[in-house]
Amino acid sequence: MVTHINLKRCIGCQFCVQVCPRGCFEYDFEINKVKLVNPILCLKCRACELNCEGDAIRIEKPIFQNFFAQLI
Ligand code: SF4
Ligand code: SF4
Repeated sequence: MVTHINLKRCIGCQFCVQVCPRGCFEYDFEINKVKLVNPILCLKCRACELNCEGDAIRIEKPIFQNFFAQLI
């Protein structure tokens, strides 16, 4: 699974920063949006995706994982 942030949709509410149990996000005051700073720590709990006010976060499977899933 991979975490993506669509910065065009991010409204800077910081809910993702508050709900992430692993500190994966960091608020950037210069652009008023969040950045993914520790993706390797992600638990794939999807709390960020479910609480994102701007619908800007997607937790996605890597492309190769989707490819093999279609073969099964
Ligand atoms: S899925 Fe969970 S651990 Fe991963 S970035 Fe989102 S809130 Fe943090
Ligand atoms: S919860 Fe969504 S809209 Fe709010 S700061 Fe995080 S990515 Fe941006």
